[in-house]
Parts: sequence; C-alpha cells; structure tokens
Amino acid sequence: MRRCFAFLFAALTAYAAQLSPTEAALVKTIDAEAPRTTALLETLVNINSGTENAAGVRDVARHMEAELAPLGFTVRWVPMDAVKRAGHLLAEHKGTRGKRILINGHMDTVFGPASPFQKFVRTGDRAEGPGTEDMKGGLAVLVSSLRALQAAGVLDPMRIRIVLTGDEENPGEPNSISRKDLVDAAAESDVALEFEPGIRVHGIDYASTSRRGVVDWSLHTHAVSFHSARLAVRSWAMGQGRS
Ligand SMILES: [Zn+2]
Repeated sequence: MRRCFAFLFAALTAYAAQLSPTEAALVKTIDAEAPRTTALLETLVNINSGTENAAGVRDVARHMEAELAPLGFTVRWVPMDAVKRAGHLLAEHKGTRGKRILINGHMDTVFGPASPFQKFVRTGDRAEGPGTEDMKGGLAVLVSSLRALQAAGVLDPMRIRIVLTGDEENPGEPNSISRKDLVDAAAESDVALEFEPGIRVHGIDYASTSRRGVVDWSLHTHAVSFHSARLAVRSWAMGQGRS
C-alpha cells in the first residue's frame, strides 16, 4: 500500500512539474471554484429543459448568457419557432489571435416535464439528475474553463464562438433551418470542441472522436405468395435441368 502511495505521489509530482505557469493557474482557479461550478450545475439541472419544453430551454439559455456575457462574449438568442423548437444560444468572443475555436453543446435533455426524474441529488462526490451528465455537466465545465482562462489573463485575445443548441436530443426539421447557425459557425472556425462528457469504463476514461450515423430506410416489395418448400424443390429441379 505504501509503495502504491509513493508511486501516486511521484506521478502527481511529475504531472505538476509538466504544467506551465498558465496551466497551473488554470488548475488553481478551477479547483478554487469547484463549489461555484457545482452550484451552477445544480441550478441548471433543476430547470426542466426537455427538448419540447421551450420555456425551460430558454431559461437555461438565460443562465448561460448571464455566465458568458461578463466574460466578454456577445450573446444572441436565435428563436427556432419555425421548426417548433425553443432556439439556440450563440456567443462570440471577438479576440484577435490564435485559431478560431468553435465550442459546441446543447441545453436540452430527454426528460420532459412529465418525467418523474426531475431533481438534482448530490451524495458525496456523486450527483444525479436529468441532464447532469448529458450535458449540463458539460455546460458547467465549459463555464468553469472560460472563467479560469479569464482569471489567468489569457482569454482576452482568444477567438471563440459558442453554439448551444436547444434541440440536440430531438432536432427540429428541416435540418437546413435547425442546424444552419451551427454549420455557419463551423465554416468560420478552425477547430471545434464538444463539451459532451466522456464515459469511464473499468476505470478508463473514453472520449468520442467521431459520431455514429443513423440511416432510416424501408423496402416495399410486391410478389405472388408462394410456399418456401415448393420454391426450394423448383430451384433444385431447375438445377437438374428440369423445370
Ligand atoms: Zn448530449
């Protein structure tokens, strides 16, 4: 056991030694603000924002706007009435240097007002609630990261666009309308960061590097009914040169 602790200490010391002063400052702020970040997560989770609950999605957007505007972001709400969805929150940080970064996330969850799963419950280091992981946890981490960048004095020149959709779990149709703002922001960006949380399986952390696709198709056929056994005999007979 002691050897195990010694190894862990050595590993942490090596990790700390690898951090630049800016990175160390980021870690310090993120650690110091952990209670604030957790409180934000609780607030967001306790707002029902099932995809079809437009008022709830809008409320989450207001909280995110209140976090982003003081960090120097120009924030804009884009209504999506045309596709029967709440809308998207767009935020832009007009810096002057570095790669143009797109940050992408969503504010809705799959749990509507009728779901029995509604409230944030914390037990020690574990939290449960609708959207706690997918992805209000991601939104809280996003705010925490940006606040740390600002506190470290490195946010100012950064060029960042944020697109938080309100209908990720059940996108409005057509996509040409519901995803236009996201596609436009991507076209004006060099890199994209998604804040959906990863997963941990058997103690190993995994992150998605690509997304699965979904294809819907149906096949309509017309034929005369025929018994499969008779069909088999006929096929054999044809193989023997008889029909
Ligand atoms: Zn998600």
